[in-house]
Amino acid sequence: MSAPRIRIDLEKIRHNTRTLVERLAKRGIDVTGVTKATVGSARAGAAMLSAGATGLGDSRIENIEAMRRLGMTCPMTLLRSPMLSQARRIVESANTSLNTELEVIDTLSHHASQSERVHAVVLMVELGDLREGLMPGDLSHAVREALRLPYITLRGIGTNLACHGGVVPDAEKMSELSKLADSIESEFGVHLDVVSGGNSANLDWALGTHDTGRVNNLRLGESLLLGREPLHRQRIDGLHTDAVTLIAEVIESKVKPRRPWGNTAQSAFGDQPAVAPAGFTVRTILALGHQDTDPSGLEPPEGFTVLGASSDHLILNSRPPCLPVGSEVCLGVNYSALLRAMTSASVAKV
Ligand SMILES: *Cc1c(COP(=O)(O)O)cnc(C)c1O
Repeated sequence: MSAPRIRIDLEKIRHNTRTLVERLAKRGIDVTGVTKATVGSARAGAAMLSAGATGLGDSRIENIEAMRRLGMTCPMTLLRSPMLSQARRIVESANTSLNTELEVIDTLSHHASQSERVHAVVLMVELGDLREGLMPGDLSHAVREALRLPYITLRGIGTNLACHGGVVPDAEKMSELSKLADSIESEFGVHLDVVSGGNSANLDWALGTHDTGRVNNLRLGESLLLGREPLHRQRIDGLHTDAVTLIAEVIESKVKPRRPWGNTAQSAFGDQPAVAPAGFTVRTILALGHQDTDPSGLEPPEGFTVLGASSDHLILNSRPPCLPVGSEVCLGVNYSALLRAMTSASVAKV
């Protein structure tokens, strides 16, 4: 098999999804499985659906289109606010999109009318993280405008925290979202099917409370794929953290001095090499580098540390013995390492 390669264990993704779907169902919350870190892998998406996710979400319409081409008919949500220039494609492939701009919703309605479809929107509310969202005071106006559009249905409201400002989706934020849902319903006499509380960062709150208020949906990616919650990157009890691994091949393994010799300046990526202790160690080079992944997001096997990386080389430190040239090393990935590997043309996907 070719190396480097990223290996996705679909059975472990199914397990992670099923576990969280069951725990959240007890709190009245369903799960949208988020495929964006797998660049819209239909097989990862299918694993999430077979384990109880009620639909899939992705941030890019290209990924949703690719899954549709492979015959996936499940409900699909575009997570990133639609680009105006893609409105027609979004109406054609996604059932629902998360929105913050009236001009965009208006354009979605226009394209929906042309293709005789109804497009569903979830209005995203800014609750302090300062990425996407309508300011809470502007929500009512946006709802009024969305309800006027014949080819748009308002499915609900949502929010997204812990992505830019690191703002925690805690009980206070979630109760604010619930109150907004109640007030929209009483003001307009409508029912909001979806109150989408957030992403994997909401799990601490959701699994730690019995009062989830009006929140009835979470959009989960990292937790299903990597088994961790993103606030403190702790393993979620009962989940696999090795559903995704990166495998690379050894191209050199030798006992060498720990300390470089000669006059030193900047390294390939501009770092000033730290002063190493004296003595000797086993240095193993893997054919893997910045072009393939985010080296700072790799977890080497027990007994190994990552000493550094350049475009095409990853240098590991360990005790003897040396690893055979041509053998393979399996590394854990964080979200950043996963994303870079999935989008790298030089990494095979298995
Ligand atoms: C990426 C994303 C998610 C999923 O986030 P995870 O931390 O991977 O669970 C949910 N909602 C939105 C809007 C996103 O962009």
